[in-house]
Amino acid sequence: MDFKVAVIGGDGIGPEIVAEAKKVLNRVAEKFGHEFHYQDILMGGASIDAYGVPLTQETIAVAKASDAVLMGSIGGDTTTSPWYKLAPHLRPEAGLLGIRKELNLFANLRPAILYDELKEACPLRDEVIKDGFDMLIMRELTGGLYFGERKTIEENGVRKAIDTLTYTEKEIERIARKGFEIARKRKKKVTSVDKANVLDSSRLWRAVVEEVAKEYKDVKLEHMLVDNCAMQLVRDPAQFDVILTENMFGDILSDEASMITGSIGMLASASLNDTKFGLYEPSHGSAPDIAGQNIANPIATILSASMMLRYSFDLDKEADAIERAIKKVLTEGYRTKDILSDGLSFVSTKEMGDLIAARIEKE
Ligand code: NAD
Repeated sequence: MDFKVAVIGGDGIGPEIVAEAKKVLNRVAEKFGHEFHYQDILMGGASIDAYGVPLTQETIAVAKASDAVLMGSIGGDTTTSPWYKLAPHLRPEAGLLGIRKELNLFANLRPAILYDELKEACPLRDEVIKDGFDMLIMRELTGGLYFGERKTIEENGVRKAIDTLTYTEKEIERIARKGFEIARKRKKKVTSVDKANVLDSSRLWRAVVEEVAKEYKDVKLEHMLVDNCAMQLVRDPAQFDVILTENMFGDILSDEASMITGSIGMLASASLNDTKFGLYEPSHGSAPDIAGQNIANPIATILSASMMLRYSFDLDKEADAIERAIKKVLTEGYRTKDILSDGLSFVSTKEMGDLIAARIEKE
């Protein structure tokens, strides 16, 4: 099959890690008989340097005409880079917010996987980790508290700040549907996280999730209060498959979940709209401190490419092949600098990409 992929190399380590993800995708194409047509587009700092703005109409148009967007990461050193002397709407991150909005990317997916080979990096005790964990946080990205009306007023000489948490049933329904669809591709369990004992928005959330669940009888649904979820993540992370939650809860829980995997260079992410379209990028930033040194870990970006195959292109076998290849390389003891420990083999960004690409097999 043929797929059009818009590619945003981005800033800092972005172009280095995206090059390795493309290397792996090309190997998948060769082995499985597909064609990926890449089109490079600019966003973030690179776009500011070329056009004076972090996001252009042309970038949006190319992204919209593609089947998916694969991105490195954007941004520079926030204290020294001239990009951060610009007005906020002209800085690199404004490009990212802009493209998410333009593409209507309302569902954010962040897998948190603890690889057996990287157990040492996990801050939890062995008896908690047991056989490791593999969960996915599905966070609503365009509604809730961060997008509600807000203001700060003064009443009788006392300052008062007001934020509003709003969700419509339509917004809840579409993210719930995505959560169940994705659970079907995994272990078929959804934990919907809310604060229904206090918040009206959470009570509506719970009611709508229950309604949507009726269409997905093969998927097990449970509800969990957000405070309990925060605790369960460090008490028994293996119990989770898909955690489905609203914007702010997801913001906090996804950082907690990524922390317990222990390695930032391994964490992929995807942002989806209500078609098959998605933007795929590592969870980490552009790491300007190590840019251009060929030492960044490309695995988060390669795993993001694997998510693209699974969720936008429905190429599950191909995605499995990438994930198997990564596990193989780790089992063989190859590590980039960020995940290196005694007795293992140090490899560069490019070597890691080569090793993974060489291990892509159909079965
Ligand atoms: P960062 O994630 O870029 O780096 C934090 C630390 O982790 C650094 O020490 C870095 O060297 C290391 N690191 C990150 N990715 C790595 C990898 N693949 N391999 C090895 N080490 C890695 O976070 P930061 O330093 O706070 O931010 C740098 C820039 O990235 C800022 O401009 C920020 O706004 C931007 N940022 C962009 C995104 C995005 O593109 N979605 C996300 C987060 C931060």
